[in-house]
Amino acid sequence: MTRIQEVHLQGLDPERLAPIIGPERAERFREIASLAREKLAGRRILNVNSTATGGGVAEMLQTLLAYVRGVGIDAPWAVIHGTPEFFAVTKRIHNGLHRSPGDGGELGAAEHEVYDEVTAENAAQLRELVRPGDIVLLHDPQTAGLVVPMQQVGAFVVWRCHVGSDDHNDCVERSWEFLHPYLESADRFVFTREHFAPEWANDGRLAIIPPSIDPFSPKNQDMTPEVAHAILRDTGLLSGVDNGSVSTFTRRDGSPGRVDRHADILQTGPPPDVDERLVVQVSRWDRLKDMLGVMEGFERHVVGNSGAHLILAGPNVSGVTDDPEGAEVLDECVEAWREFPHAARTRIHLACLPMADVDENAAIVNALQRHADIVVQKSLAEGFGLTVSEALWKARPFVGTRVGGIPDQVTDGEDGLLIDDGTDLAAFGRAVMLLLTDREYAARLGRNAHERARRDFLGDRHLAQYAALFDDLDTR
Ligand code: UDP
Repeated sequence: MTRIQEVHLQGLDPERLAPIIGPERAERFREIASLAREKLAGRRILNVNSTATGGGVAEMLQTLLAYVRGVGIDAPWAVIHGTPEFFAVTKRIHNGLHRSPGDGGELGAAEHEVYDEVTAENAAQLRELVRPGDIVLLHDPQTAGLVVPMQQVGAFVVWRCHVGSDDHNDCVERSWEFLHPYLESADRFVFTREHFAPEWANDGRLAIIPPSIDPFSPKNQDMTPEVAHAILRDTGLLSGVDNGSVSTFTRRDGSPGRVDRHADILQTGPPPDVDERLVVQVSRWDRLKDMLGVMEGFERHVVGNSGAHLILAGPNVSGVTDDPEGAEVLDECVEAWREFPHAARTRIHLACLPMADVDENAAIVNALQRHADIVVQKSLAEGFGLTVSEALWKARPFVGTRVGGIPDQVTDGEDGLLIDDGTDLAAFGRAVMLLLTDREYAARLGRNAHERARRDFLGDRHLAQYAALFDDLDTR
């Protein structure tokens, strides 16, 4: 039997946020952290999810938990294991919560059986990590079955769901029907947006907490254009770079890192030259991120008018273990790419980024987002979209869909551009063309974007909301 994996993270001192958030916010945060430590009085906060790397949840836990540990709170992180059948079922539930039938399979008795068997194995191992009174924070559908077993050990259990859609359809209902029996008794529910929560969760147990990013993580840390260019050159994503810089970055543990792996890139001809205009979307290879639609919209409405390049970058498909659809979606993109005329193929690049070293992968994403003239996130459904906050923080002109958590991060015409319908490729093309041609407007949106991310999407806001939630739990 596979063991659950404990992810080891070093604590980080949140004081390093002070110069960014300013003295008042920093002081407020110090008070909140000290009160939380006192109230917790040695209880643990155990986070449980289904992958240590790849995707937004893992990304966020890596830095948030490091800060929690940095203020002296014991916050272990466990990653459950699962069989391919288990992850096929949980992906179906996940797609359902995004209104999509996914692979079209059932969510009936046989699927409950698959789900329950894996859950029971994980629960048995997790029990060893939990003491009565601890707080267990379970993330996403893969962990829903652990609510009851963790409560049986005497823990307070919070289930946090990072996905959802504003409108419900049969697919959404079906996923909630599957999950409801496991979740009924949870002490609290956390959702990114109120609309995502099913009615039964909104009975006084619901808290709304949007995610956040960390400005010091390899994904978001400052990086000079020269270093970004060197990283992209060494990865094979950019040509025409000869600046003597080396592709270095700082790892999460503070040690120096260097990018030395290559991306797998599908392209005709050389990668974009450092001086050419570049549009980027970074996403998992998931249909709802619509990499295919980005490519088609770009081919129809941008390439001929601008000569800009597009890089679609996602993880190496074997790198995200809880996402069985990745390879299939990448294949669909490759097929479509092959059908494009030669001129478009020279401008559109599909890149699979190396995942062997999470920090290195993050540094590559950082460099790509920073070098991009425009970052897009044309999702058809989106829980929150950490890639959006990442782009805003880097002051990038942004184009995204008005769906899920994206409009919570971007106000159209102020700190980015939103299209109303993700399938409207002409509108997408127009928004991208506007930002490519009006550089002054694009730069203004970018400056506002950075300010927005600083105000609303950093860790101090996020952790303060958690502290309030735990405080409330404690007084039940
Ligand atoms: N990401 C990454 N490498 C990749 C593709 C994505 O590090 O090759 C990251 C991306 O930068 C973001 C996260 O994965 O931090 C995706 O989170 P988001 O909320 O945008 O979407 P999710 O994958 O959770 O649906």
